[in-house]
Amino acid sequence: MSITYIPVELRRQVRAEVGQRCGYCQSTEVITGIPLEVEHIIPESLGGKTVQENLWLACHSCNKFKGNRIQFADPLTKKMIPFFNPRTQNWSKHFHWNLDGTLIIGDTPNGRATIEALRLNNEYVVKARCAWVIAGWHPPID
Ligand SMILES: [Zn+2]
Repeated sequence: MSITYIPVELRRQVRAEVGQRCGYCQSTEVITGIPLEVEHIIPESLGGKTVQENLWLACHSCNKFKGNRIQFADPLTKKMIPFFNPRTQNWSKHFHWNLDGTLIIGDTPNGRATIEALRLNNEYVVKARCAWVIAGWHPPID
């Protein structure tokens, strides 16, 4: 399927609005050194438009695992649940960091389904978070 080109000005507007943090795992491009990607919250393949209201920033890993999906099974109830929406929902109402700051814990069905599908606690990012915590860069404060 073809992917619509996202105009530079629209990318700039989304970056100005969102900042430098992945909407899902909260990783920042300053720490990872890898630019965040402008992603469609509702994928184009499911009718999502290339407009600011449907765009956010995600790291490469979250964007890749999200793919063309909008929902996943909540591991607790096994019911299909929409992903956390970084534009309309507040991250800290759906997730929190564990005590050492290396794992994201889901507090709602949306949060838990998103952690599973986007692999927000995959072994690579957890190892990286351990180093970020030691450096004093993580978890984010706000
Ligand atoms: Zn991410």
